[in-house]
Amino acid sequence: MKILIINAGSSSLKYQFMESEGGEVFAKGLCERIGIDGRLTHKVPGREDVKRDIPMPTHNEAIQAVLDIMVDPVNGVISSVDEIAAVGHRVLHGGMAFTASCIIDDACIEAIKKCIPLGPLHNPANLMGIEACQKIMPSTPQVAVFDTAFHMTMPPKAYIYAIPYEYYEKDDVRRYGFHGTSHRYVSARAIDMLGNPEHSKVISCHLGNGSSLAAVVDGKVVDTSMGLGPLAGFPMGTRSGDVDPTILEYLMGRYGYSIKEMLNILNKKSGVLGISGVSSDFRDLDAAAAGNERAALALDKFIYEVKKYIGAYAAAMGGVDAIVFTAGIGENSKDLRYRICEGLDYMGVKMDAEKNSVRGKEADVSAAGSKVKVFIIPTNEELMIAMDTAELCKK
Ligand code: AMP
Repeated sequence: MKILIINAGSSSLKYQFMESEGGEVFAKGLCERIGIDGRLTHKVPGREDVKRDIPMPTHNEAIQAVLDIMVDPVNGVISSVDEIAAVGHRVLHGGMAFTASCIIDDACIEAIKKCIPLGPLHNPANLMGIEACQKIMPSTPQVAVFDTAFHMTMPPKAYIYAIPYEYYEKDDVRRYGFHGTSHRYVSARAIDMLGNPEHSKVISCHLGNGSSLAAVVDGKVVDTSMGLGPLAGFPMGTRSGDVDPTILEYLMGRYGYSIKEMLNILNKKSGVLGISGVSSDFRDLDAAAAGNERAALALDKFIYEVKKYIGAYAAAMGGVDAIVFTAGIGENSKDLRYRICEGLDYMGVKMDAEKNSVRGKEADVSAAGSKVKVFIIPTNEELMIAMDTAELCKK
């Protein structure tokens, strides 16, 4: 089935048009500066990229621009919009309402709206993408795929916060977790690569601009590092990960920051950028680390915290069969992967440094005799979204 995948942000919209069986990508691209002026970048494998300035006052014009270029006689890949069998939308927060992907109808939209307080930055933008598609292609079925859904199998002891229980009961305060579509894809591939055993324990490390780990037993998440929102866990590019809440009170008192300013610091100015003062990009940190103590410290901190989570999840699961690395850092940085696995021999993790010299390719990089397999698996969230969309539409 040919599926259009939409990932709508507040001022940008990414799209990919692909085959749900086999995952062939026909075209993909990006609308930027929505609500400001508007720019489209359209990529078709084997052709030169097309860049166009197109007015995009709202997401409606952005979706229209995507459809126009898809059927363009020169730059397009289809002759009619009818060739798009369905649209799959990435939605950040599904709250407690969504444990799986769902066909978009009025009830689904209402439920996504109810999750806005939990995902105030992303859910409204995701909804704008959905509403634009409903308006412009009203007869094409649409599906919502949630970043949180895969984590909904966590047991209460993993998702409950140790604050008054009424906040869970009345206000849905709990751990949700994110990057669920990515963790779902790579953990399923890891189980395949393990030979589909009846029982499996996988630690999935999604290490990119935003990063999270998930502990997956028999294909089901039992714990994950992000929380109610995606700021939680270990340090990321610009996000702090978990911090002692006392720090907030202390700094807000000292500098008169509002909670909004404080959260902006924790979201945008912290993580490895905050420690290093150099960059949020791990390539820049690698380059700077030799002569810059703070860049080296930022990398040390990141590696140390990921290692601690791996240890914690091995303990939580009572062992581990495979550790998987994915996303920008996980797929590309052999040094970080190596340093994360270094010293984990005591739990049966032995990496083969030579096999580890790969980038962006599926690989088993464990040394001969390693009790725990170490896999690199490029993530493919779009394929997961396309497969869910096709499956729900066939039903
Ligand atoms: P993502 O969010 O998955 O697109 O990951 C993007 C991040 O991956 C970038 O900000 C970089 O920090 C990191 N990255 C990409 N390529 C490399 C590389 N070769 N070495 C280290 N980090 C990389």
